[in-house]
Amino acid sequence: MRKKIVAGNWKMNNDEIESQRLINSIIEKKLDNNCEVYVSPSFPFLKDAIKLCDKTNIKVLAQNVSHEIEGAFTGDVSCKMLDSLEVKSVIIGHSERRTIFKEDNNMLLNKLKLCFKNNFQVFFCIGEDIDARKSEEQFFVIEDQLNKTVFQLENIDPNKLIIAYEPVWAIGTGLSATPNQAQEMHKFIREKFKNKFSESISEKLSIIYGGSVKPSSAKEIFAQNDVDGGLIGGASLKSNDFADIVNSI
Ligand code: PEP
Repeated sequence: MRKKIVAGNWKMNNDEIESQRLINSIIEKKLDNNCEVYVSPSFPFLKDAIKLCDKTNIKVLAQNVSHEIEGAFTGDVSCKMLDSLEVKSVIIGHSERRTIFKEDNNMLLNKLKLCFKNNFQVFFCIGEDIDARKSEEQFFVIEDQLNKTVFQLENIDPNKLIIAYEPVWAIGTGLSATPNQAQEMHKFIREKFKNKFSESISEKLSIIYGGSVKPSSAKEIFAQNDVDGGLIGGASLKSNDFADIVNSI
């Protein structure tokens, strides 16, 4: 059985008190025990989050990590720093990092290597933009992103890697992929992992969908064979919506 996962990507939202309130409010909800649930406050509030989530089933996820070990990288946060807060899960390759902060495949590959070396769990985001989707090049784009990053690694541990398929045109737009579009792409990604690594790895790999998932759309998307959960942006900022999405798994 593959792990079912729902992770909130809070992005640059919530100050200290708001972050604490949201976590406490999520803790109070009755959440499906079969689902791994993650919250991702911004760096300054990770330590609070770890404390609040202690002895609960909710895990804490960082939104980013540096591609370097340490040194003259103003503003960056390293694996060692996250480790010292007991944060061991991180998002890499979010489309906002790729486009706004110009993180390229080389940098993402460095991040992957460092994270796995330091025993982190990685949520690795891939996704095509609207032009690629319109010109029906989405499979080519996804394969290319994988070839230049994860598939450069000799091996992967499916317990340490989660693929988040996030079509860029669906992120924050209110325009989710249809369940069929999600299933079709997740199946394609799983097949690529099978060809690159092994069937056993591909069958254990959790592939989650992200892009305008709402309580009203989550159930049908999560019901698809190759969809193992979701990475949730906007809807993760409201505890009721987030809980409803978790319980749609
Ligand atoms: C995201 O940013 O990862 C995301 C999926 O955002 P939203 O759910 O708001 O589309």
